[in-house]
Amino acid sequence: MVSIKNNLNNITRTIPENVTLIAVSKTQPAASVLEAYQAGQRAFGENKIQEMVEKFDILPKDIEWHMIGHLQSNKVKYMAHFVHLIHGVDSFKTLQEINKQALKHNRSINCLLEIKIASEATKFGLSFAEAEKLLKSEELKSLKNINIAGLMGMASFTDGQEIIRGEFKSLKYFFDSLQKYKSFNVNPAILSMGMSGDYEIAIEEGSTMIRVGSAIFGLRNYN
Ligand SMILES: *Cc1c(COP(=O)(O)O)cnc(C)c1O
Repeated sequence: MVSIKNNLNNITRTIPENVTLIAVSKTQPAASVLEAYQAGQRAFGENKIQEMVEKFDILPKDIEWHMIGHLQSNKVKYMAHFVHLIHGVDSFKTLQEINKQALKHNRSINCLLEIKIASEATKFGLSFAEAEKLLKSEELKSLKNINIAGLMGMASFTDGQEIIRGEFKSLKYFFDSLQKYKSFNVNPAILSMGMSGDYEIAIEEGSTMIRVGSAIFGLRNYN
């Protein structure tokens, strides 16, 4: 039997105060989210918009919902009224859509640029050069209803700890270099890196936000 409460306590006890824990509840039933909520957890991450909306509708309204998956632009509208932070933004086009939907609700939506740091070919994300180009672009200034609050990255799926550490290190280095782009809608303060298998390394390398699923809820049957 998995004890969600014990798992959560074990993690929150060991992470520094400046690191925010996102409980990744994708594929988990609402009852499990509620169990974590009752243990004090308030920030949850989902990777499918529809699943997040369904949980938002039935769960307590003081939950912060984080979209951590790859975005389909046509679905942004379903979460625009409540999403707390969108982690996986990797194109200007997606930012434009988020801006458009945020405007309809007269709010600003916080976004993280997803950076590709892993060597695997399948992962989404911008290169450092692409991210810089976006941050420097004139067009970005036209997006008044988004705030780029930092970066997100996923390390390679490997047992090679030094590979993982090197990838996180490179992302932290890039993150630190972004302060020069600070503007009304660029305020890099969040570095979202680290999952169940590698969050300890991520924290050592400067993560401020970890996204942890299976170490809290147990193994998932599918992704
Ligand atoms: C599923 C997922 C996680 C959590 O993965 P675990 O290994 O279960 O902790 C974190 N980040 C993203 C982007 C994910 O899709």
